[in-house]
Amino acid sequence: MRALDDEELLERARGSVSNYCSSTCKSLCCRNGRLNCRDEEQLALVAGDRREKLERDDLIKQEWDGTFSIILTKPCPALDENHKCSVYPARPECCRNFPLFRYGRSVVVAPTCPAQELLAPFLKELRRRDFRVME
Ligand code: SF4
Ligand code: SF4
Repeated sequence: MRALDDEELLERARGSVSNYCSSTCKSLCCRNGRLNCRDEEQLALVAGDRREKLERDDLIKQEWDGTFSIILTKPCPALDENHKCSVYPARPECCRNFPLFRYGRSVVVAPTCPAQELLAPFLKELRRRDFRVME
């Protein structure tokens, strides 16, 4: 069988926590923090009918690069009652990458993610491939 390339390994690692995300963690990362949307269209999709209220509460910020951040003081507007993302196929890049963010040959592990144990074998393999892994 062909060995996974680095991106495939990272995707496999992210996927390895998905059952835990819905069954145990219940999408903690969709409940707080800063959610970056690449453009107006993605912001409208994620914020939905909560956009006006978020703007009134000053919880939407335009960033220097033209992207938009939603500051999550409550669960993300796109999180449904079953702890699933209602815009999953079009979710922002930060959501796709969570909890492993790659910067060249470095990988940062989100410290707030409680699935660290599941990630451990993948982090070991990344280190073996000379990635700098920051936990
Ligand atoms: S914080 Fe980690 S375990 Fe929880 S939903 Fe997010 S990625 Fe999954
Ligand atoms: S867009 Fe989806 S994946 Fe991203 S924080 Fe909201 S509910 Fe979670």
